[in-house]
Amino acid sequence: REPTDPDASIRATDSDAALARLSAVQKGYLVDPFVRHLVPRAHLQPPRPPLINIGTYVRTVCIDKLVDGWLQKCSIEGRSGCQILSLGAGSDTRFWRLATGPWKDTLSKYIELDFPEITTKKTMAITKSRELSSLLGKPGEVQIDKSGTGLHSPKYHLFGVDLRLPPADTLSILLASPSTSDSTTPLLSPDVPTLLLFECVLVYMTPEASAQLVQWFVDYFSSTDNNTNRKPRVLGGIVYEMFGLNDPFGRVMVNNLKTRNVSLPGAEPYPTMQSLPKRFLQHGFRASHALSLRELRASHLGTTELERISKLEMLDEVEELELVLEHYAITWGAWIDGTGETKADWA
Ligand code: SAM
Repeated sequence: REPTDPDASIRATDSDAALARLSAVQKGYLVDPFVRHLVPRAHLQPPRPPLINIGTYVRTVCIDKLVDGWLQKCSIEGRSGCQILSLGAGSDTRFWRLATGPWKDTLSKYIELDFPEITTKKTMAITKSRELSSLLGKPGEVQIDKSGTGLHSPKYHLFGVDLRLPPADTLSILLASPSTSDSTTPLLSPDVPTLLLFECVLVYMTPEASAQLVQWFVDYFSSTDNNTNRKPRVLGGIVYEMFGLNDPFGRVMVNNLKTRNVSLPGAEPYPTMQSLPKRFLQHGFRASHALSLRELRASHLGTTELERISKLEMLDEVEELELVLEHYAITWGAWIDGTGETKADWA
């Protein structure tokens, strides 16, 4: 028998996320002209059930609002740019949506990390699509890694790494200067406000591995320098994940994933919504908040949008929808160095 790759099932969750995004776009929940370039045979994919479409819609819109709020705050504060790092980015299209959106000039760097198998596929999809690659820069400005596992352009960078490995080894790629410039400054500058996105990835990792990852960024941004004139360094984080999986419905979700060989070690320390901000607070973040998708749908979408999406499809499983949305949450937080004040007030 062929030895099975235990990570193949984790990587397969990227297709689930991408197919759900495509379906939500095709059904009119979301507008995303880029997703079809990142899903193989997009035009042949069947739509997902309304429950999945609504969940995908709520999480995408709410994370978009948080990201836009972050970029807007950077811009109001007169910061010279803003960096976003998406860890476990999979086939996400957020970079291209931002690159064509109102905050494109505030965004100075967008870095995506995922397993090399996923980033190789994404590199190929990007190079095949004129629509995606033309937004990265002029032809000479876009470079593909020799290994084919990553891609670099003036703003957008894609790297293949296993995020469970010691960050001191894997994340050193962020400390090198970008291959697309002659400068000696590191790709990720601690002096530029930086937002970390963990969209449905930390649940697949042990709490220890996730903690090491977040701590690496805090340590990097805490590193001392002699410049007393600089603005306080700022790090923000957004986590989207399943939580509260010890109740009967949560156990059904866990068992369904187990049948596909996917386990969720990262969800274990977070049995309640109140426990989720620990993801950030344990690393010295000044503030962190969490809300379930159920609460976000009920109070953060606005009646016009709720009415609009209620007309898109017939939803028979209203109770099941509430139960599912009650087991997913978005957590966000802010860290700042020195005496700078901050609240997680960009949301
Ligand atoms: N963030 C994307 C989104 O929301 O559409 C993808 C989410 S998908 C559910 C989870 C992603 O995390 C997959 O692309 C998977 O390969 C990636 N991932 C999980 N564990 C990882 C690890 N240890 N190292 C790198 N990537 C990982």
